[in-house]
Amino acid sequence: MLWQTRLTPQNAVLHAPPDGSGGGAWLPNRAASETEKQGVTAPLGKRGNSLTPPTTKGGQTADTKKDKVQQNKERKLRGRRDMVADQMRAASIYWHYEKEAPKGAKLPGRGVTFCGWTQIAEHPTELLRVQDETGFRAYFSGVQTCGLRHVCPCCTASAAQIDRQRVNDGLAAGRERGLWPVMITLTTRHDRAERAEDVLAGVRRAEQKMKTVKAWRRFSDRIAGYARAFEWTHGKNGHHPHFHMIALVQAESEEEAIEAANELQPAYMRQLDAAGRDGHSEAAWRHSFQVQGAAVAGAYVAKWGSAEELTGALAKSGAGEGLTPWQLLRLARTAPDEADRQRYASIWWQIVCATKGKAQLYISEGWKELVEAYRRDEEAQSQVEPERIMGFGMREKRGSPTMLWLDALPRRLAIREAAERHKGLEDAAMAVIEAIRAGPTDHELIDGSGDDTELIE
Ligand SMILES: [Zn+2]
Repeated sequence: MLWQTRLTPQNAVLHAPPDGSGGGAWLPNRAASETEKQGVTAPLGKRGNSLTPPTTKGGQTADTKKDKVQQNKERKLRGRRDMVADQMRAASIYWHYEKEAPKGAKLPGRGVTFCGWTQIAEHPTELLRVQDETGFRAYFSGVQTCGLRHVCPCCTASAAQIDRQRVNDGLAAGRERGLWPVMITLTTRHDRAERAEDVLAGVRRAEQKMKTVKAWRRFSDRIAGYARAFEWTHGKNGHHPHFHMIALVQAESEEEAIEAANELQPAYMRQLDAAGRDGHSEAAWRHSFQVQGAAVAGAYVAKWGSAEELTGALAKSGAGEGLTPWQLLRLARTAPDEADRQRYASIWWQIVCATKGKAQLYISEGWKELVEAYRRDEEAQSQVEPERIMGFGMREKRGSPTMLWLDALPRRLAIREAAERHKGLEDAAMAVIEAIRAGPTDHELIDGSGDDTELIE
């Protein structure tokens, strides 16, 4: 492949017309973690030349602790590289389908093709960093993001963190008031021949209608609020959209709270039937409606947007549980077989189309009020002022990107990594300038191959 095509990141607006050659390209990259397995060294700058965790010598405990910190850092870097690679893959899948679509058709997910790429007009583009537990976290400001929850892994990761905080605060507020959290999982039976949209429509309809019946009114009188997350997996029986509803129940005990939630089941099953789904078979009664207690609800919220869920998800996936959209997207990039990569891409795309415009999280008014009251009581979180490493200029309205930004674009990962490597601001800025000048490109970091430049015609 030509260097020039590989250089073109996920954006087609500023460079070539959408031709599917951008981003991760339809031919996917390897995962950064896979690179390591194959013994190819991905450049990591001065700190370490390899992502391989350092080996402990002679069981020295002081070193072990340092190793742990270092390993954590490297896991974070690898996670981010993989996430960016997944984002590029998402863009390339979008282009593939845009090319196939009839002219003028509006496809979902277009935003991901310029997310993190296009300068916001009349806003300065800057490289900033904040300090967190493991060191510095650098990011660009003044650059468009897509915010597409079911499409873009980068935007989903940051939004999920905010959601998790809101839901966790609601759980904490409920605990303070002696409420019992229960998690109700709503879904429907399905088979692999069914279309994603059809399965989803049935579940959504039954969930909405359930909220109009008497049983729901009885239940809602007992709850302080609820948060409802919309999730999707794909397994051997096809598409599996489902809702997790976490409700805070006034009850004497957890058993009583669970019992109260279980009283909703007949209403939900009736609505499944009315929506043309199976609401009567024994299997449907076993699988379509489940209630779990506080421990499960808490554990479920804790994993939201976590590194494990979004970047290390594959290792955790159990047999028969089905794959999440993020696992599918990762496989669409890393599966060894081209046919498999295309198959995963196509399943992922079906989910993107079916979930278009559907919020991932709904929070009831009651839950919001609880969170607000709880936050007023808690000390206001101190806002950390970010450090500015360098500016990349400002794009004029309808103008071209700035030269500095064009220079930075192919190496955004290396630039962020450089900005995080040094404590001193000046050292960090120097490292960033060096990364812009001669650092590895995002494709090189993701592929672990540094010899593409020789392929220039
Ligand atoms: Zn995005």
